[in-house]
Amino acid sequence: MTRAAQTPKEMADAELPSLLTIYKDLHAHPELSTKEERSAAIVAKELKAAGCEVTERVGKYDNSDAICYGVVGVMKNGEGPTVMVRADLDGLPVTEETGAPYASKVKTKNDAGQEVGVMHACGHDIHMTSLIGTARVLGKLKEQWKGTIIFIGQPAEETVGGARAMLKDGLYTRWPKPDYALGLHDDAEIEAGKIGVTEGYCYAAVDSVDVSVKGMGGHGAYPHTTKDPVVLAAQIINAWQTIDSRQINPLEPTVVTVGSIHGGNKHNIISDEVKMQLTVRTYKKEVREKVLASIERIARGAASAAGLPDDRMPVVQVDKDGFTPATYNNPELTKRGAAAMKAALGEDKIIEKSPTMGGEDFSEFSLPDHSIPAFMFNVGAVDPAKAAEAKKTGAQLPSLHSSKFLPVPEPTIRTGMIGMTSVVLDLMKK
Ligand SMILES: [Zn+2]
Ligand SMILES: [Zn+2]
Repeated sequence: MTRAAQTPKEMADAELPSLLTIYKDLHAHPELSTKEERSAAIVAKELKAAGCEVTERVGKYDNSDAICYGVVGVMKNGEGPTVMVRADLDGLPVTEETGAPYASKVKTKNDAGQEVGVMHACGHDIHMTSLIGTARVLGKLKEQWKGTIIFIGQPAEETVGGARAMLKDGLYTRWPKPDYALGLHDDAEIEAGKIGVTEGYCYAAVDSVDVSVKGMGGHGAYPHTTKDPVVLAAQIINAWQTIDSRQINPLEPTVVTVGSIHGGNKHNIISDEVKMQLTVRTYKKEVREKVLASIERIARGAASAAGLPDDRMPVVQVDKDGFTPATYNNPELTKRGAAAMKAALGEDKIIEKSPTMGGEDFSEFSLPDHSIPAFMFNVGAVDPAKAAEAKKTGAQLPSLHSSKFLPVPEPTIRTGMIGMTSVVLDLMKK
């Protein structure tokens, strides 16, 4: 009799062929945020087969009656810690241009009724496949761990709201509240086989802000009889640039980007209003509050200086539903997780990764006060030869959300599941 495969590495290799089939199927059939019915069903079926008690359609969206396709799979193995492992399910409205034989040809209508291509351009198919692989391996290694593992298939990450919807539907009351929350994301810069780790803040808090600058319109030739909201908006935008440079401690990362501005409709008419849409990125709660307050104060101050009356002050609205908290990797858990992954994959395979101002609603699972220690790591997805070539020539590799982003599936999934399995085993070892 041959010895049964025992290490996460050996077991990952044994599972890989069937996982690749699942991956290619998921990749060819991506679904937009909140529409993840098929993907959720595959995750649910595979978690069941791996030995989980599975509940489907977990989640209640804040402002929508849409079905929430959240999946919860519970794997019990006696007394011990509760560890949550999360993967997200959704694709993006991008037409795939990778040329892969399993490329998505899916077209659908978006909420505005326009036809769009759909693609797993953020690699959430890698996340789902790694989750399934991790569940299979841990289901077979029960003699090595104790406690409860909660596997999560989370919808609507790209549009934000899926994690919040699952929490709102009792994720932490109907099921055991986790002692640790774990997640991974594929990485479009790191070479496959390696894992990037960031300690502390790794993704920013994201706010969407709508600003309406009011004016008093009139003829373009008689500006003195009007209050021009276009000139005022220009002043406000420039003044906002002093928030980061003059008002916030230079050691606190802050971004204020005006992504959209619209006002007026003809050369010679001064309009009544200019509308702007901003994305605001910060890490710390106190910095976020200060930046949002500054945005409003500066807008009102400039309007006042332009001579607008109180009832024509700018209206600043922060979209509460669109808010994503900052993702904070608990330093102690991160060190422990990195050590476990180094032991499993090799010292040189785990590298330090710089934080970014991107956003991730995985942060919701750690709760606003970060009272549930969380750890999200980045799994390299780039062909090592291409990564080396890009380094030499300075060429830009396709980024996440690009129509040309294509992970090399085999080493990426293998590394992701070995990494995740070894972190879970370390936290739950007998
Ligand atoms: Zn994304
Ligand atoms: Zn993503």
